[in-house]
Amino acid sequence: MVDCIFCKIVNKSIPVNLIFEDDEIIAFRDINPQAPVHVLIIPRKHIDSTMDISKTDESLIGRIHTAAQKIAINESVDKTGFRIVSNNGPDAGQAVAHLHFHLLGKRKLNWPPG
Ligand code: 5GP
Ligand code: ZN
Repeated sequence: MVDCIFCKIVNKSIPVNLIFEDDEIIAFRDINPQAPVHVLIIPRKHIDSTMDISKTDESLIGRIHTAAQKIAINESVDKTGFRIVSNNGPDAGQAVAHLHFHLLGKRKLNWPPG
């Protein structure tokens, strides 16, 4: 997607603080962190939101979560806890229309979220 900021990050035309990558996924630090650990985990492939995930993406979504396990260990939040959040659509405040999962931790996270 030409105008997608996360596709530009995948294509390396926008630099990020990369912390994980494989052939299908990248993860990098959020530019505007909401917690001491705030990582974005995204598929390299452009998918607008959860509503655009197809049957053939099921293994990709699973891999995002096994990547999240590795990231949680590397960021030392695997024992203390962390939250994985995916904002979808206007009511959730999705700002970037490229499916992504926020991994937040290293502080007490409130529930319910705002
Ligand atoms: P959303 O509100 O769509 O769930 O979250 C998008 C996230 O992407 C925000 O937390 C925002 O700070 C982050 N973000 C937007 N542009 C960039 C960027 O260029 N680099 C990085 N590292 N994060 C970004
Ligand atoms: Zn994209």
